[in-house]
Amino acid sequence: MSKLKTIKEYPLIPASKPSEGAAGRTGLWRTFRPVVNLDKCIGCRLCWFYCPDNAITISGDGKVEINYDWCKGCLICFHECPVKAIDRVVEEFG
Ligand code: SF4
Ligand code: SF4
Repeated sequence: MSKLKTIKEYPLIPASKPSEGAAGRTGLWRTFRPVVNLDKCIGCRLCWFYCPDNAITISGDGKVEINYDWCKGCLICFHECPVKAIDRVVEEFG
């Protein structure tokens, strides 16, 4: 029987951006903005794995970044982070 991959065995492929559809960039949908606290992050990649919009990237040195043009504020990352390294703040579009 083949062994299931762990999340860290999946390649960190660059996020593919959704095409600009009628709804435009999903970043404008947010009520809450997820904010990563890098001091708490343990690099588990769960946020990257579960983000439905490919809005999270992880750089070669393990730094988690959120692309706010495409993050729609669903907060799945906030709920999945096992060490509460992602905060949610009320969005204030400038
Ligand atoms: S809030 Fe949702 S869309 Fe935004 S980064 Fe987190 S999981 Fe992705
Ligand atoms: S889920 Fe939390 S601890 Fe894991 S990589 Fe994302 S921010 Fe870091």
